Amino acid sequence: MKKILVANRGEIALRIMRSARKMGIKVVAVFSEADRNAPHVRFADEAVCIGPPPSNRSYLLGDKLIEVALSLGAEGIHPGYGFLSENAAFSQKVQDAGLIFIGPDPYAIEIMGNKLAAKDAVKSYDIPMVPGTDTAIANIQEAEDIARKVGLPVLIKAAAGGGGKGMRIVHKEEELGEQMERAVSEAQSAFGDGSVFIEKYIASPRHIEIQVLADAHGNVVHLFERECSIQRRHQKVVEEAPSSILTPEVRADMGQAAVMVAKACRYKGAGTVEFLVDEQLNFYFLEMNTRLQVEHPVTEMITGVDLVEQQIRIAEGELLPFRQEDLHIKGHALELRVYAEDPYDNFHPSIGTLSVYRRPKGEGIRVDDGFDEGMDIPIYYDPMIAKLITYGETRNAAIHRMLEAIEDYHIEGVATTLPFGKFVCEHEAFTSGQFDTHFVQQYFNLEALKESNREEGYYAALLALRLYTENKRRLHVPDVGGSNWKYFR
Ligand code: ADP
Ligand code: ADP
Ligand code: MG
Repeated sequence: MKKILVANRGEIALRIMRSARKMGIKVVAVFSEADRNAPHVRFADEAVCIGPPPSNRSYLLGDKLIEVALSLGAEGIHPGYGFLSENAAFSQKVQDAGLIFIGPDPYAIEIMGNKLAAKDAVKSYDIPMVPGTDTAIANIQEAEDIARKVGLPVLIKAAAGGGGKGMRIVHKEEELGEQMERAVSEAQSAFGDGSVFIEKYIASPRHIEIQVLADAHGNVVHLFERECSIQRRHQKVVEEAPSSILTPEVRADMGQAAVMVAKACRYKGAGTVEFLVDEQLNFYFLEMNTRLQVEHPVTEMITGVDLVEQQIRIAEGELLPFRQEDLHIKGHALELRVYAEDPYDNFHPSIGTLSVYRRPKGEGIRVDDGFDEGMDIPIYYDPMIAKLITYGETRNAAIHRMLEAIEDYHIEGVATTLPFGKFVCEHEAFTSGQFDTHFVQQYFNLEALKESNREEGYYAALLALRLYTENKRRLHVPDVGGSNWKYFR
């Protein structure tokens, strides 16, 4: 391909364009009226406004995106994550228009887009699954039977669910009926599909997922795991690779299972197979995300593989350039999602202008963002400002670097989740590796947040003092003679 259209915005649009350009491919940006001055628009070789700010009048207009791609001579469309990335009908339309969809075929998106269809597809491959139903629950009676069989608590989940939404925990049998009714109506309004199913609620799980890459010729490899147990409301907030609890054997088994899942749906491209892992390191298949994942950079840091580049090459029909035995884990990486949300105010969205925006820099620090100083955080989209990624030889080094990077990240004008990141990275449960998906619920509160960020003022003052004295020396040190030193004491 010589030119592609990136059907997304923000950090991910920019990140995709960077890899494409590196490969000598021209990039077309699309943007809504709210993103006219966004970095992804300025970075692109060509940019087209596709409509007003709301997503359903801009970034979700599949036909329009295809029209723009065709009119500018783009040969492929990269959907990024969110928006149309997991829309099977869109990927079909892209193909029907004679363009290349940089992602899996509609068949795989369709199957894996529904958690029940996904379970059904992998059933014959001997992949462990959370105990529960493998078909939609039709009535309360059925729900009660299942709950009794697997034991309470159970989780009612929307088959079409995503983004941590559409889940209800049931602790008592008498709550089952009411919770099920709610789950069905929520699923109907959020996903346009009211089917729900039941899983045993795993009490103390880790969320560990496997990155896979599959080419169009049937070759599939995995790129190890990402630990995503630090979640708020079932949504990931801090991710890392590798996981500190997996043994080489379990890692290999999970990797093998993920490869089988990809084969089960004839997968093509980059995808993620999510698992829950219990305290005995038993793992259970949760779902597959048929797209590039938000937290893909940690995998890139420890494997040295550019996942977007591989997506593009696979879409062009190339063979995978490596076999499983060529891939190795080197070092450790962390990612903090930096949101325009106020951790001191129950993570309330914080809208406004980035009056100060200075990224941390240095070895082992990567910032994937889509903003510049002076820009507004639009209210129409996901409030993520950036992903702060750090790398180190060891887990400790990566954590240490994250703390330094948080300290050096200067954002004013909106509240951010940086202080929350500091809280996590300093917490004993996190640094020791002894945590599960309940970390935030269990340890996070306003007092603890204030406590972990209290010394900030002290350290800032200390740093200012050091810089002040250093600068003063630099400015006043005379060229000749050392006698003037006394003036600086
Ligand atoms: P991850 O962060 O691991 O990539 P998420 O589940 O957090 O996966 O989703 C990433 C992006 O995709 C978010 O913008 C989220 O809102 C969006 N998303 C995920 N699933 C759906 C869905 N079923 N419908 C709409 N958006 C979704
Ligand atoms: P989504 O499509 O919203 O990402 P997932 O099935 O991937 O839904 O689950 C999201 C999160 O919800 C998991 O990472 C985990 O924290 C929690 N979760 C899901 N299923 C279970 C379960 N059976 N037991 C305990 N926690 C679960
Ligand atoms: Mg998930």
